Amino acid sequence: MSTKYIFVTGGVTSSLGKGIISASLAKLLQSRGYSVTIQKLDPYINVDPGTLNPYEHGECYVTDDGAETDLDLGHYERFLNVPTSQANNVTTGRIYQTVIDKERKGDYLGKTVQIIPHITDEIKNCVTKLGNTGSYEIVITEIGGTVGDIESLPYIEAVRQFRYERGFDNVMVIHLTLIPYLKAAGELKTKPTQHSVKTLQSQGIQPDILVCRTEHELNDEQKRKIALFCNLSENAVIESRDAETIYDVPLLMKEEKLDQVVLERLKLQLRDEPTLKNWTDFLTKFKNPKRSIKVGLVGKYVELQDAYKSILEALVHAGVPNECSIEIVSFHSEEINRANVAEQLGSVQAIIVAPGFGRRGLEGKIVSIKYARENKIPFLGICLGMQCAVIEFARNVLSLNDANSSEMDSKTDHAVIDLMQDQKSVIDMGGTMRLGAYACEITPNTLAHRVYGRTEISERHRHRFEFNNEYKDEMEKAGMIFSGMNPQSGLVEIVELPNHPFFIGVQFHPEYKSTVANPHPLFKGLIEAAVKETEAVIA
Ligand code: GLN
Repeated sequence: MSTKYIFVTGGVTSSLGKGIISASLAKLLQSRGYSVTIQKLDPYINVDPGTLNPYEHGECYVTDDGAETDLDLGHYERFLNVPTSQANNVTTGRIYQTVIDKERKGDYLGKTVQIIPHITDEIKNCVTKLGNTGSYEIVITEIGGTVGDIESLPYIEAVRQFRYERGFDNVMVIHLTLIPYLKAAGELKTKPTQHSVKTLQSQGIQPDILVCRTEHELNDEQKRKIALFCNLSENAVIESRDAETIYDVPLLMKEEKLDQVVLERLKLQLRDEPTLKNWTDFLTKFKNPKRSIKVGLVGKYVELQDAYKSILEALVHAGVPNECSIEIVSFHSEEINRANVAEQLGSVQAIIVAPGFGRRGLEGKIVSIKYARENKIPFLGICLGMQCAVIEFARNVLSLNDANSSEMDSKTDHAVIDLMQDQKSVIDMGGTMRLGAYACEITPNTLAHRVYGRTEISERHRHRFEFNNEYKDEMEKAGMIFSGMNPQSGLVEIVELPNHPFFIGVQFHPEYKSTVANPHPLFKGLIEAAVKETEAVIA
């Protein structure tokens, strides 16, 4: 199978939604029967986003194979319902690391190692690596950043070479730009787009399609003008109007015939017209909910929308099968304390305690969990959220008052959450956590079993600390149920409490695996429980 390649670049500003456009195009091509994958090349020097502060870069998304990646990969999976891997996200840091490792090994045989050809060759290798798997007819590669940035130059040059080497029928470039609306003039302005295309042309690339982000409709005249000044046919100027939700974008792109223009350009058959039936059903249900639920999200990165991206999207997915709209109310865990918890969380019908690192905001999370446990509010604790549920139980039910995680208090007498022996000597920060998919065995007849409907699952991890099994018996006697265990290591993966409508903590991150086609059972179960509880009160 000869793979076709589509590169997606961005111009004018960042944050135009290249990831969503790439995922939407991929969805349309997938629904025409093409096997597609999407890759993101990020021009920063971090080897992966694992060490980046969520305030700066949003959530770090984790794949089955344990890669810590850009959050756009989450969109790819949520849209396509196909897992991604390390090969789907490459950074400048990783490319340089590979080249420098080869240089140290002497692989370049004494040659001077340079950006061209060595870095650009490595970039091309990363793209072909996905194509060479033989699994995809089309590979879409999104180039992070904005054309004109110093960091993007080697990538654009690699795309130029790649297109020349592979042939123009096999490789195309889609450029995403912004058409700003000047309120004072009452006009859409095309000049920034013209300049950004000129920058791309000066680097040797004529884009094949322009996708224009705009708040207002582009008329034929404006499309013609853009086409004329950017050397494009008119049908290659695609309007991308601001959408109500990201899940509308595939349908908007279908109306604009983006997929058709792409297939014609790559000389591929159109195959079946995409119906997107399931997708449309999902959207119809999403936009016509029968009820509404408020979910409290307790975390410490709540100011930044992107920090909990996958959790927010998993809630969107979970609302749909419950025909329920979900209002997410964010709480900064540092601002919750014993005195104000009832007032703060009093109006929500479900509580999620978010993942996180470090001591800041920990006590607010523990207080929130106590409130959920005692007031029988459906609760889901994710990773640190599960660890906090264990600490809360140890402190308030077992009366181990100084119980803690050794991450937060290395001197505690009761480290109910602790490092595994083999991790104690690790000092590097990057890539040293328990990462990626691990198997989990669920105990029959537990809440976890009811929610998942099976006893063997696999979920993705990203953490260092674990439940300390020395406390397992004592906690079990006091009522905590350990309903999910790793069959190889015996590590605790799921805890739950009986006599509660829904109280569950998971050491893994279920949010990474929720997709439009497959809303995650834990989020679905949480919302279902919240709906049931709320309706019971009304009845
Ligand atoms: N800080 C905790 C750990 O490293 C939890 C991590 C998380 O919530 N992702 O184990």
